[in-house]
Amino acid sequence: MKICVLPGDGIGPEITAEAVRVLQALDLKFEMEEALLGGCAVDATGNPYPEATQKLARVADAVLLGAVGGPQYDTLPREQRPERGLLGIRKDLGLFANLRPAILYAELANASTLKPEVVSGLDILIIRELTGDIYFGQPRGIETREGERVGFNTMIYSESEIRRIGRVAFESARKRSKKVCSVDKMNVLECTQLWRDVIIEVAKDYPDVELSHMLVDNAAMQLVRNPKQFDVMVTGNMFGDILSDEASMLTGSIGMLPSASLDEKNKGLYEPCHGSAPDIAGKGVANPLATILSAAMMLRYTFANEAAATRIENAVKKVLAQGFRTGDIYEAGTKKVGTKEMGDAVLAAL
Ligand code: NAD
Repeated sequence: MKICVLPGDGIGPEITAEAVRVLQALDLKFEMEEALLGGCAVDATGNPYPEATQKLARVADAVLLGAVGGPQYDTLPREQRPERGLLGIRKDLGLFANLRPAILYAELANASTLKPEVVSGLDILIIRELTGDIYFGQPRGIETREGERVGFNTMIYSESEIRRIGRVAFESARKRSKKVCSVDKMNVLECTQLWRDVIIEVAKDYPDVELSHMLVDNAAMQLVRNPKQFDVMVTGNMFGDILSDEASMLTGSIGMLPSASLDEKNKGLYEPCHGSAPDIAGKGVANPLATILSAAMMLRYTFANEAAATRIENAVKKVLAQGFRTGDIYEAGTKKVGTKEMGDAVLAAL
């Protein structure tokens, strides 16, 4: 079980250190090696995804990433920006399936902007296709036609691309409440008519999983009206981009949200949904729980160790129940702790 650890920039090193401590406490036989990605890699080598990191990431079974970026890199040429490193590694490793759980722990129900009864106990998983759709389709561009500029992109999905993300959704649903909602816009877009047809075909291999369909405009509405009706949602790259951000904000606490991006063999890159938080970097106050929960996803999806994944998730639930809070989720009456103390509390709960 080889893990490539990429702490990255800003709060990245602080939060990944806690996730690494949690993994080490499990007494499983991990081999972990660190490398550079993002701004720190540009500083050291001039390349946000240097060759040494590429080598390590390719041979590893899983990658644990903190976050990349920072204001000092915003004026660099585009190919040297930290985000290029992130896109580079996703593409290099063929990570086509993005999994983002949105879980709202009962203790944090007040952090949401929605009424506690609408979101308390929320537990949904958004599965977004990550390497196709209008973001990558050709032709694309801006050109002049008949004397005025026109901009155009191509929404395109092949059957095989839809089938493989569909399978990820049904397999994931089998590990949860066995419900998949596929989101499309088949009433207007042919591309997503094919999406619906192929998802229905894939569903035949999973008779134990209940499949429903929803148009994306309605899905956006239902996510804020009654989000608890969903379990697994699966959709294309563009709709998924928007819906996964919407769903994650239902929880109101960015420091709590893990994510996984998987290839066809369940190799994965695991990272928190938030960025490098330069405003609090180096202060020891960042919330490490999203990264610790990303490590739990790694155990579940890459290493197929459900028991260890659940152990970490239960430890996180326990520290929340005990009242430990970092600044981002603090409210009166709870115990405010820093990054390392939060890590200590999770270790104690484990
Ligand atoms: P951000 O997610 O870094 O921060 C937004 C706000 O949330 C900040 O106030 C920050 O302090 C807070 N926050 C984020 N994570 C937190 C945590 N774990 N604990 C406590 N508070 C936390 O978003 P931003 O400020 O827009 O971006 C900062 C940098 O991160 C930019 O350079 C951006 O490009 C980069 N970024 C990277 C990723 C990634 O690596 N996947 C994702 C988003 C943004």
